Amino acid sequence: MADKIFVTRSFLPPLEEYTEEIRPIFESRWLTNMGEKHRALEQALKEFLGVDQICLFQNGHLALELAIEAMGLHGEIITTPFTFVSTTWAILRAGCIPVFCDVDPVTGTMDPEKIEPLITERTSAILPVHVYGHLCDVDAIGEIAKRHGLKVLYDAAHAFGVTRDGVSAAAYGDLAMFSFHATKVFHTIEGGAVCFRDPELADRLFRIKNFGIEENETYCVGGNAKMNEFEAAMGLCNLRHLEEQIAMRGRVFRRYVENLSGTPGLALPAEQENVKSNYAYFPVRFSAEKYGETRDEAAARLNAENIFPRKYFYPLTNAFPFEREIASQPGVPANPELSAARFDPSATPEAARFSEEVLTLPMYGDLPMEEVDRICRVLRK
Ligand SMILES: *Cc1c(COP(=O)(O)O)cnc(C)c1O
Repeated sequence: MADKIFVTRSFLPPLEEYTEEIRPIFESRWLTNMGEKHRALEQALKEFLGVDQICLFQNGHLALELAIEAMGLHGEIITTPFTFVSTTWAILRAGCIPVFCDVDPVTGTMDPEKIEPLITERTSAILPVHVYGHLCDVDAIGEIAKRHGLKVLYDAAHAFGVTRDGVSAAAYGDLAMFSFHATKVFHTIEGGAVCFRDPELADRLFRIKNFGIEENETYCVGGNAKMNEFEAAMGLCNLRHLEEQIAMRGRVFRRYVENLSGTPGLALPAEQENVKSNYAYFPVRFSAEKYGETRDEAAARLNAENIFPRKYFYPLTNAFPFEREIASQPGVPANPELSAARFDPSATPEAARFSEEVLTLPMYGDLPMEEVDRICRVLRK
């Protein structure tokens, strides 16, 4: 039986390269707290992403949760249920109410046409997700936000390295969050960042990730979400290999497309005009009638061949059968308005259908072509 193939496999730089990168840390004994590697990674990422402002974090989730707090957002945040739980939990844990908007059936990103009916006097922001690295309709979302005086925060966890007409995903909205988790296209083992426009946010973000420490022994209230030097060093190494990794992923992506296009009942990922992809995922959708099998049946057949794709995203984040009222979950700050939050997947039918039909296939730079072919043979039957 062939070795197990999972949906992803973390990239690692050559061991010698990482050893060289961490050597100065052993000499200085400066292991964390915004040292040399942290500063170097911030600078390198600013250049790579083409932004002026960035703040590094211990992970993408805390970056988003603390950014919502640092921006002083309150009340309702319009978001998508077709995402990893982190997006929705960040809103809840920051004391806000998620209001779920349906998605575009092709890209899986928030459908701008469905946003305005959800806006109330309590809405403070829109928080869409660049799902699979598909760029949201940033122009339409930006216009709606401007018209209604709302902030826009992107969960860009999937979109590192994605550009539209040469402009990186980091540049859209008031703020964009990236995850540098080990499973992402670019990683720092664990890590994350936010890129933002408002220079005043820089101090607030810095304090909130560092216990609220200000100068001269004065404090405000903050948490701890700093990236350490070993993680930053991993990021510096991985950034050097990123373009090559994306090119390798692109070859895997095209091999899937060559093998699978024309398969009845199987929809392949959308390609977006003027968008340079990072080939983060290869999501396929099964329409059971035409394909002759449900998504779950196809997944089971792949599993029998030691191939482990993921139902990503399933379930929707508005589909959790909360045994207790959401307002009394231990991780959620007290908020009398929370009982108004609507956790109901039937209110977002396109997202519900996407989530029932999608399977993300194994995707990483050094996935051998023979394995891609084998996966496709199983899917084509
Ligand atoms: C990975 C991911 C996150 C969380 O990032 P971490 O760095 O793992 O905390 C949030 N949102 C989406 C869409 C993700 O894929």
